[in-house]
Amino acid sequence: MHELVIRGGTVVDGSGEVPRTSDVAISGGRIVEVSDDVGAGRRELDADGLLVTPGWVDIHSHYDGQALWDPLLETSSAHGVTTVVMGNCGVGFAPVRATDRAWTIALMEGVEDIPAAVLEEGLGWGWESFPEYLDALESAPHAIGIAAQLPHAALRVFAMGERGIDHAERPTEAEIGLMGRLAAQAIEAGAVGFTSSRSRNHAASDGRLTPSYSAGDAELLGIAEAIGRTGKGVFEINVDTADVEGDLALMRRICEVSGRPLSMGLLQRPGQADTFRRVLDGFEAAALEGLEMWGQAAARPTGLLMSLRGRVNPLAGSPTFQELRAAGDLAQLQRPAVRAHILGDLAGEGNALARFPLAFELGDPPRYDRDRSESLGARAAAAGVDVQGLAYDIIARGGFVYVPVSNYTDGDLRAVHEMLVHPRTVPGLSDGGAHCTMIADFDYPTYLLGYWGRDAPDDMRLPVEWVVKRQCADTAALVGLCDRGRLAPGMRADVNLIDLAAIGSTVPELLDDLPGGGSRLVSRGLGYVVTVVAGEVAFELGEHNGTMAGALARV
Ligand SMILES: [Zn+2]
Repeated sequence: MHELVIRGGTVVDGSGEVPRTSDVAISGGRIVEVSDDVGAGRRELDADGLLVTPGWVDIHSHYDGQALWDPLLETSSAHGVTTVVMGNCGVGFAPVRATDRAWTIALMEGVEDIPAAVLEEGLGWGWESFPEYLDALESAPHAIGIAAQLPHAALRVFAMGERGIDHAERPTEAEIGLMGRLAAQAIEAGAVGFTSSRSRNHAASDGRLTPSYSAGDAELLGIAEAIGRTGKGVFEINVDTADVEGDLALMRRICEVSGRPLSMGLLQRPGQADTFRRVLDGFEAAALEGLEMWGQAAARPTGLLMSLRGRVNPLAGSPTFQELRAAGDLAQLQRPAVRAHILGDLAGEGNALARFPLAFELGDPPRYDRDRSESLGARAAAAGVDVQGLAYDIIARGGFVYVPVSNYTDGDLRAVHEMLVHPRTVPGLSDGGAHCTMIADFDYPTYLLGYWGRDAPDDMRLPVEWVVKRQCADTAALVGLCDRGRLAPGMRADVNLIDLAAIGSTVPELLDDLPGGGSRLVSRGLGYVVTVVAGEVAFELGEHNGTMAGALARV
């Protein structure tokens, strides 16, 4: 008798095959059989009318600290994600010497907007080397699977000492050798990859650019060569694509020297409407030569959520507002006299909205497929009211002002569609665990299925089986997690039972539940009826039942 049978669901197995009605039998944490007659199970789940899919594999998160204190890996686990890959964008907490701990926190705070106070309270620091960090992760309980990558910034500072913090410093040959040995050691111990950043947007909280920002060829290729000798591991790199040819050339060399796959965050940045196409052309050309380069595509325009207590707040330029916020007296915002006073303050400098050409009321349910005619500016003009007042009223009543920054150059989601369907991309960039108070993209997998698999206009809607393959099998394969992402005999039994009609996200909420009382945006995934992790039912209708079947995946 099987331990668990999921009976009569519409199985979307991750292979890209069309959905079919089937049973899924599970024992010993693995899928045993997928067919229309699997025999009885000790426990059976009726999946009639539900999609049965592999759990989502999210390859771009920043749970490097949170994974040590939050067994649920919220909020990814609330969205059907059963494996998160952390350590992206070159930042993380190992290897690290005791003297550099404060600095790695400042870097994570600056790059990923995870408050230093939260990290100081939550990290615990029971490691120095990367293998020791993996052991610390492994010994903490987890409701879902996790996998870690080695971050360049930490490795560089460990090998070069304080000099390594300055990106313009060059390592000696011996230091490059050490970085290579430590990188290979991390991969051999089970890190799934190595990550780096050359983005100007990535700076520590003291303003210094991330240490890998201008790392030279000798350093990057030295590391790549050492990792290549292990025959394992994936590279993730963040570049601004201001110099597409230069960036492509560097990424090619990393792939050539290592023989390993590479991915980079792909965005249509303001002022770079076509750059992503040139990058993808470069990836296609590289693929013809056997070089595996992938773009990580976002599920929607990326941008900011402005809210009353968020770090980016359109009212923050007003001294009156700041006094009220400091005094915890935000109820005053409802008074007409206070409103007039704050809007008066904002009439001059400090208008956060003026920095962005387009802003929208997020609404409930949250909507990201916006038409320019719905912007606050267009609404204010149509109603003959002041746009500042409109923004004030949304913020003051606890709503969100959504500002798409990237992937919205044309005022629609066609560029996002183009990136998602390109043969050299996989879904990524959710940034789960990061940007705590102003970005809530951790629900990308939910959005991918709900919007692109169900709600998108006819000419852009994507087949559900295609969406599932991309978010499960393709992402898992890129990072070398070949034991998951498919519903097939022998695979790890991470499974979602999904009510497609209900799939969606609640409006984000700002909770103060991080260590030390830090704040973060959280939203619930809707439509996830059951999530099974390693063969055990772990979440039912969004509620965790206490099961800790997640584990650190070592490649
Ligand atoms: Zn990132």
